[in-house]
Amino acid sequence: MSRYWSPIVSTLTPYVAGEQSAMSGLLKLNANESPYGPSPDVAVAIAAALTDGLRLYPDPTSRRLRVAIAASHGLDPDLVFVGNGSDEVLAHVFRGLLKQDAPLLFPDVTYSFYPSYCRLFGVAYREVPLDETMAVRVDDFRQPCGAIILPNPNAPTGMALGLDDIERLLQDHPDRPVVIDEAYVDFGADSAIKLVERHPNLLVVQTFSKSRSMAGLRIGFAIGQRPLIEALERVRDSFNSYPLDRLAEAGAVAAWQDRAWFEKHRDMTIASRERLATALRALGFDVLASAANFLFVAHPVRTAAEILAELRQRAILVRHFNRPRIENRLRITVGTDAECDRLVTALQEILGAAAGR
Ligand SMILES: *Cc1c(COP(=O)(O)O)cnc(C)c1O
Repeated sequence: MSRYWSPIVSTLTPYVAGEQSAMSGLLKLNANESPYGPSPDVAVAIAAALTDGLRLYPDPTSRRLRVAIAASHGLDPDLVFVGNGSDEVLAHVFRGLLKQDAPLLFPDVTYSFYPSYCRLFGVAYREVPLDETMAVRVDDFRQPCGAIILPNPNAPTGMALGLDDIERLLQDHPDRPVVIDEAYVDFGADSAIKLVERHPNLLVVQTFSKSRSMAGLRIGFAIGQRPLIEALERVRDSFNSYPLDRLAEAGAVAAWQDRAWFEKHRDMTIASRERLATALRALGFDVLASAANFLFVAHPVRTAAEILAELRQRAILVRHFNRPRIENRLRITVGTDAECDRLVTALQEILGAAAGR
């Protein structure tokens, strides 16, 4: 606290990101980053953009990237909005679309950035509890509200809704913006982008950080009909009109165009996820069915906090959320098969030692 602060600052609850540490031999399974680098074309494209051209501002509308993304979905580039990571796109979404005359709805267990944005931007919200299996039940969102946001697959559960459920949500709230945060969609869910042309209230948000292995470059985007995209443009142009820098845009276009690299590494992650889930179940863990690049697990005997600490001693980081309903679960990012093996070996040690006590 400081007397120099704007009053709102002391009311904020900032999001706490997965620890970024330089510990040697560290296995980072705590931030849902990809264990694989991006397409080699990315470095080539960025190197080619490292010229005197950097003295010029970037294209404020990132047209090349929007054209590339739109083309893969057979859409007009004007239906695509890009920003510095989907977190920045979401910030514009909260300001431009989700602050309404009635509370915003989102699941009680979900991406914990949402309540942080609500406090920062003064958005009233109401949490809708997941059902007893930790699934989102769209019927529970049938209540008066100003807008709705949810990740699909949800985070940190990893559980996905089908497009039939998403469409029902859209039909239940034709007069309200419904935002689907698809940060993990490539790992096993159907994208709602194909519903955009039929639903003027739908905005889909995606990121290059997870399935495209580019968390370090900060690229995210949203797709929706023009009135929703225009709201984001108006907010952006009142805040920072040059979001993507020249290198990020060049890298993002190259990554988007190397579809084969993307598919190969996404498929490897999906295969590793299923292999890791099997190994964790064999150790006694309850593992939620995941359509993402992480698993959300609980052990019947050892607490999540104990396992977290013991893994940390072995230089393995996973994520723990000290929140109601999920305080006994750990979110584990799927690494390479070798990384998953190192994790499983460490867990065998930890749990074996406990059994012998
Ligand atoms: C990782 C994540 C994001 C943010 O990703 P960026 O790196 O900012 O693009 C958004 N939503 C959810 C649910 C996420 O897990």
